[in-house]
Amino acid sequence: ATVAEYLEKIKTHQHLNAFIEIYEQEALARAQALDALPFPAGKLHGVVISLKDVLCHKGHQLSAASKILEGFTSVFSATAVQRLQAEGAIIIGRVNCDEFAMGSTNENSVYGKVLNAADESRISGGSSGGSAVSVQAGLCMVSLGSDTGGSVRQPADFCGIIGLKPTYGRVSRYGLIAYASSFDQIGIFAKNIPDTALVLEVISGADDFDSTVSNEPVPVYSGALTSGSSYRIAYFPEALDHESLDPEISRAIKKQLADWEAEGHTVQPVHFDLLEYIVPTYYVLTTAEAASNLSRYDGVKYGYRSAGPQPELDDFYKKNRSEGFGKEVKRRILLGNFVLSSGYYDAYFTQAQKVRKILTNNLQLIFRDFDFICLPVSPSVAFKIGEKTEDPIAMYIADIYTVMANLAGIPAIAVPKFTHPVHRMPFGFQLMAAPFKEVSLLAFSNNIL
Ligand code: GLN
Repeated sequence: ATVAEYLEKIKTHQHLNAFIEIYEQEALARAQALDALPFPAGKLHGVVISLKDVLCHKGHQLSAASKILEGFTSVFSATAVQRLQAEGAIIIGRVNCDEFAMGSTNENSVYGKVLNAADESRISGGSSGGSAVSVQAGLCMVSLGSDTGGSVRQPADFCGIIGLKPTYGRVSRYGLIAYASSFDQIGIFAKNIPDTALVLEVISGADDFDSTVSNEPVPVYSGALTSGSSYRIAYFPEALDHESLDPEISRAIKKQLADWEAEGHTVQPVHFDLLEYIVPTYYVLTTAEAASNLSRYDGVKYGYRSAGPQPELDDFYKKNRSEGFGKEVKRRILLGNFVLSSGYYDAYFTQAQKVRKILTNNLQLIFRDFDFICLPVSPSVAFKIGEKTEDPIAMYIADIYTVMANLAGIPAIAVPKFTHPVHRMPFGFQLMAAPFKEVSLLAFSNNIL
């Protein structure tokens, strides 16, 4: 399809609320400029991409779907965005998400909820719901999102597309609005593995502007998509028999494992006793990091400032922040400051750091014997809009299968494969691998699709 066709389609799908802003004239001009160049003018010549509203794009507005960044314009572009453009990609617009990437449904956005194109009465998933739906509904080819605890994989799963979270440090975070810096990673939404691989290849690699990015050489992912014939795949019986998991999802994944075994792969159960600890650990550590990262939004330097008479400095901050942040973000700032406070630091923050270390070590041991760990992506398929809004704890617990990869910094992919027999909604499975093993994740997934 041409850029004009994508623009047209975005307009006829406006009710999905995936796009916050469309760069109509700019995208058309860019397409024209590319047409004048010899093909291909880069690895992504003419590839139409949307950006989650947490990625800096020079000269364009950026808000993290929050009122507190109202009117803010980026003065530079994220490294990943620069690299896409240098390879000929066309950025078509900025897409919706949960405020500061906090959430699992895209219902916590100042722009309102995003509808799932497979069933418009259901959520898109989150926090990168706009990214997922923009690809699902064919409004662009690829989208970049961010994954701190599942925000790429879970909405991808709910929308029946691919979602990849690379190894921590594979992609520069320069220009990505920070939620929890030791967890955040830019991820990719696409409809097929070759597109996913190509985009990963373009955005990965060393960057002087992010001290946590890895110098590990970037493989030609797009040229390494032929799968081996016998992988070693582990699964956690505790995860597949978890009480919160939809029995149809459990059944489908068990059947998938049996099929892999029949095809000649080694499939084995591995006992995993940390399942109940990982969600609390994730929320203690990420809220602590968020409380610190979000302290910069005070209405002084940029963004929203409360109108009316300005009180003394402390009250001025309070007023700007009370009016600028939404409910979920406030909840997490409070929680984060609580777990970091001197009386509770050891009981919560230190403990959580220990669990993180134990989990990382455990997974490392498993990856000595296995190529992949197979898990569900989410305990359910996309549920109805508004269904869980009043129960934040239930919402947090549903992150049980995705936060593990971020706690350990390992790569993970959501691969769409099934349709729920009752709800008629898509879902798939998740594969995690050892750090920097994106090549095998992509090759194996490519073989399945
Ligand atoms: N649902 C998770 C959370 O709310 C994941 C968020 C994310 O990955 N950005 O923290």
